[in-house]
Amino acid sequence: MKSVIVVGAGIWGSSLALRLAETGWRVTLVEQHRPGHVRQASAGETRLLRCSHGADEWYARLARQARDGWRRLEERAGEELYLESGMVWFARTPDGWEHASAQVLKNLDIACEVLDPADGARFFPDSGGFRHDDLSFLLWEPHAGVLRARRATQVTAALARAAGVRLVRARAVPVAAAGGAGPYLSAVEIDGETHRADRVVWACGAWLPELFDGLPITVTRQDTLHFAVPSAWSVPETPAWVDHGASAYGHGDVDGVGMKATSDAEGTPYEPEYGPRVVEAASVEQARSYLGRRFPGLAQAPVLFSQVCQYALTPDAEWLFAELSPGVWLLGGDSGHGFKHAPALAGYVTGVLDGEHGPEPRFGLHERVPARGLRTSGHTG
Ligand SMILES: Cc1cc2nc3c(=O)[nH]c(=O)nc-3n(C[C@H](O)[C@H](O)[C@H](O)COP(=O)(O)OP(=O)(O)OC[C@H]3O[C@@H](n4cnc5c(N)ncnc54)[C@H](O)[C@@H]3O)c2cc1C
Repeated sequence: MKSVIVVGAGIWGSSLALRLAETGWRVTLVEQHRPGHVRQASAGETRLLRCSHGADEWYARLARQARDGWRRLEERAGEELYLESGMVWFARTPDGWEHASAQVLKNLDIACEVLDPADGARFFPDSGGFRHDDLSFLLWEPHAGVLRARRATQVTAALARAAGVRLVRARAVPVAAAGGAGPYLSAVEIDGETHRADRVVWACGAWLPELFDGLPITVTRQDTLHFAVPSAWSVPETPAWVDHGASAYGHGDVDGVGMKATSDAEGTPYEPEYGPRVVEAASVEQARSYLGRRFPGLAQAPVLFSQVCQYALTPDAEWLFAELSPGVWLLGGDSGHGFKHAPALAGYVTGVLDGEHGPEPRFGLHERVPARGLRTSGHTG
């Protein structure tokens, strides 16, 4: 039986462990805390699922596949993890990112509709007073929605254990052949003891750059805000929304934690293990100011819930999936847009580890040219 050690039980590592166990691998999943612990990126209360990715088709296809994957997972788990509220994209120019997205969605036969900005009023409760005078059109993606992220991570890890994955709670350390900085062995060190396997996958999110030198990944702090709003503003009745040009996004209330309205612009450099987890006043002001401009009726909504999380950003927002040494794989650099894809990504990575296909060159360790097209953040200011 082929053996694999997956390090990191965020949504990427847990989904991969589950898929590998189901396809005949003997899997050990190593996690330094617990699946769903609050420091991991996958422990956000919610994450959006959208197929729009600007001009890119690859991620759009994977997202569509992932939606089916989430549905299957829900069936197995017997609980609702994906709330299909739909998503409204606020397009500021007629020929920008949303226009490119609409073209791709149409080409791939993924449902979408281009609407007049005034049509937005039908999606949002009257109490908001939807303002659209800065918008050129709306792109409506009816099958987009909101994932209960932290819960989905815990459920995925639990299903992985039920499928035979051995979950070890420990901090794993890479093992270099010559005791230096590589080449690395397909082994991990835990409490001074070396554990070997046919493959090792380091799915360590924002911790990856601390484990391996020279990776094209920057870790940034991201403050997330939820506001107390009238009950009409709930998912799935209220859709998710993204203003790519303003780097702002949100969705209606899920499970009583309030309406999410937050900035997607990258924050300051951050250390995921010890960085403070208290949101900054400036982030609250920024989120409230966008909320008030777009939905004037919600301008005074108090903050109900907040989280500090982190992005593991590559310069071009393409993920990192590369074989560092024989049998040693790095899987990271999710760039703030990897949660939704997890079930489908796990299938793709399994195919590579099984030798069915090679990894896309786009995921390699080459020098990356800065680009923002894959993120929901069109600007940094
Ligand atoms: C604010 C915010 C909003 C986002 N919004 C969206 C969205 O709307 N849609 C979307 O698709 N994506 C979104 N994302 C991105 C998404 O959350 C990530 O792509 C996804 O969670 C990445 O999962 P991961 O498993 O790679 O990393 P993590 O969830 O961070 O997991 C990594 C795990 O590795 C463990 N680990 C690290 N080092 C070691 C070690 N040496 N030994 C043992 N364990 C170790 C850590 O403890 C951690 O549990 C968002 C991210 C943030 C921060």
